[in-house]
Amino acid sequence: MSGEEKQVCVNCGQEYEVSPHMATCPDCGWIICPICGACICTLTPSAKIAAIAMWLSEMGNQVPEDVRQGWLKFLRITSGRRRKLGE
Ligand SMILES: [Zn+2]
Ligand SMILES: [Zn+2]
Repeated sequence: MSGEEKQVCVNCGQEYEVSPHMATCPDCGWIICPICGACICTLTPSAKIAAIAMWLSEMGNQVPEDVRQGWLKFLRITSGRRRKLGE
């Protein structure tokens, strides 16, 4: 562990430092932004999909494979019958 983990808020776009004491949302498991108080639930469905897809590509191999798979599953469920997002 580096102890200097940073995350960019999906709502306000500001970078914040992740600490183990931070609150996470009981519904989505996302860290609640200390700046604006947003988590994934506060976004619209299409914004959620975009935010998660962007986060996964930004984080790249920093995202553990099981976490990535979990989010990809979430994306599939959230996007439902919408047409597939372009790669
Ligand atoms: Zn924020
Ligand atoms: Zn949430």
